[in-house]
Amino acid sequence: MTSETPVLWIVTLAAVALTAWRSRRYIAALAQAPGASRFDQPWRRLEGVAIAIGLHRKMLRKPLSGILHALIFVSFFVLFTVTIEAFGSRLFPGFSLAPIGGDSWIALLQDLFAVLMLAGLGLAVYQRYVLKPARFRGSSGSDAAIIYVLILLIVSSLLVEAGARIVGGADGSWRPVASLIADLLRALSVPARPTERIAYWIHIGAILAFLIYIPGSKHRHMFLAAPNIYFRNLEPVGTAPAVPPERETPGVASLAQFDWKQQLDLLSCTECGRCQAVCPAYASGLPLSPKMLITDMRDALANDASTPLVGGVIAEETLWACTTCRACIEACPVEIEHLPKIIDMRRHLVDEGRVSPMLQDALTNLTRLGNSMGKPSKMRARWTKELGFPVKDARSEPVDVLWFVGDYASYDPRVQDVTRKVAELFTAAGVDFGILFDAERNSGNDVRRAGEEGLFETLAQSNIDAIRACTFNRIVTTDPHSLNALKNDYRHFGGAFEVLHYTALLAELVAAGRLDIAPADGATVTYHDPCYLGRYNGGFDAPRDLIRAAGYTLHDMARCRENSFCCGAGGGRIWQSDDGVKERPSENRIREALGLGVGTFVVACPKDKVMYTAATDALGVASSLRILDVAELINLREAPSA
Ligand code: SF4
Ligand code: SF4
Repeated sequence: MTSETPVLWIVTLAAVALTAWRSRRYIAALAQAPGASRFDQPWRRLEGVAIAIGLHRKMLRKPLSGILHALIFVSFFVLFTVTIEAFGSRLFPGFSLAPIGGDSWIALLQDLFAVLMLAGLGLAVYQRYVLKPARFRGSSGSDAAIIYVLILLIVSSLLVEAGARIVGGADGSWRPVASLIADLLRALSVPARPTERIAYWIHIGAILAFLIYIPGSKHRHMFLAAPNIYFRNLEPVGTAPAVPPERETPGVASLAQFDWKQQLDLLSCTECGRCQAVCPAYASGLPLSPKMLITDMRDALANDASTPLVGGVIAEETLWACTTCRACIEACPVEIEHLPKIIDMRRHLVDEGRVSPMLQDALTNLTRLGNSMGKPSKMRARWTKELGFPVKDARSEPVDVLWFVGDYASYDPRVQDVTRKVAELFTAAGVDFGILFDAERNSGNDVRRAGEEGLFETLAQSNIDAIRACTFNRIVTTDPHSLNALKNDYRHFGGAFEVLHYTALLAELVAAGRLDIAPADGATVTYHDPCYLGRYNGGFDAPRDLIRAAGYTLHDMARCRENSFCCGAGGGRIWQSDDGVKERPSENRIREALGLGVGTFVVACPKDKVMYTAATDALGVASSLRILDVAELINLREAPSA
């Protein structure tokens, strides 16, 4: 035992105790939080961790960030062997990694990865202080700076210590970088032994400071990212969070009501801002940053704030700004679930009657008439009257396909032509389909995500009863929002159906040769992935297949597929005012499309037809950019006259 051993024991135990003390609030909050069922499918969970962390799958979507993080991450593990040696050799005299290669291949790796760590650190500094990405706005700058300094101290001190050891006579043949430092120390006539001791204690001090600092910083994610990813939601992403039976009211009014996984989310945030960068509400100037939503709640959790959660820590306007597009969750590298928290807090607002007059009107219409437009049920199927053929009433005769038409496709005159075109295509392909006529109600998808759980259940039950009274094989929906509710929400209310989007059915019919398409001349178009079709339900390919089958060339926008940018209508936003909006998400999207120089913007959602037509009108570009539904692109060959 050296004279340093007792000193190191004392400072190490003191640092561990201080770290535990600084973590006490979080540990207590997690221990007291309501339960969550996140322990199933361990192999699938581990696989997700391996992909997210081992392969840096989401991190590498931003190449510079991904590469620098991978450099720091891998180097951290290799250099952890230095930490083991530094503490082990003094705390437990006789301990050494030499028997397993501590003086050979491990030494070489330590040397090389120290340089890679410094390279990663340099890139991180360059990114944060030179490139200054907007997504860091609102993140803690001091947190990052402190960690950069500590990493620099740790790595430089370990290299200097190794170099000083070589000057003192140690073998440097496996340490090329430390040997260079040794040459420098010799050239400067620096005494070996004191330099080694000073570097050692700087190294130890920086590591312990790092340890103590972590609980109060975003660098908690070093320990919490893996468990947070492991315990991620494995339910279909389109299923809204259920209201736990033990909860007395439908919503969440305090942080303590969030289950332990929701609270673990708050502690795991890296403040990377990827969610903020893709949020349509944030981009439009509304007071919602998904990053700050999480960090504000995290800070309240840490400080045991007496400020009320809903309307205090998180402003009501923040909650109503969300379009429920799910882009934030898709972007988050540590699988933080913003949306369930927003929906739960909205449920509290709705339960207390704290909703805007516009939203209240829509909810009242939905309660009275089953649609948000305030139209009588009898008018729901009026669009069929202009068809040249009758549409079957699925309530009174069996059909192969039950078509759940949806509110906008049924009632909105701007969309009814598209609805009729879909009906004509189904008929041309010989699809045996029928509709529910006035028995159909709004699917409740956005009602549920606006926080009106009771009304959602009423609408869902009404539709489920109507659907179950019919004889059919599959359901097809026009609206991706209806698709999502029928496919993912209804199964928890006794309605497990096979549901597909009309683009999937049309693509199936085209592939089967049941639609004789007269191809267009190859004109270039772009396509907007609706959130509830693409990101929520993986419906990326069918619309693209149809566009190509119709004879068009597809030029995707940069924000496409999983990274599509929301039109701004979802989650009940279409029933809210635009007050405070600097640029509507739909107009932002149209500008993106205009940048491609295409003349046609293709949609696959009735709400998108409405939103983007309004956006091109508002921007004065309706004559240069047509908004067409996928179905409108499909022209059939004339049948030869008999
Ligand atoms: S769901 Fe969409 S609108 Fe809501 S916070 Fe996330 S990114 Fe923003
Ligand atoms: S919530 Fe996720 S994406 Fe957003 S800042 Fe935190 S870690 Fe990054």
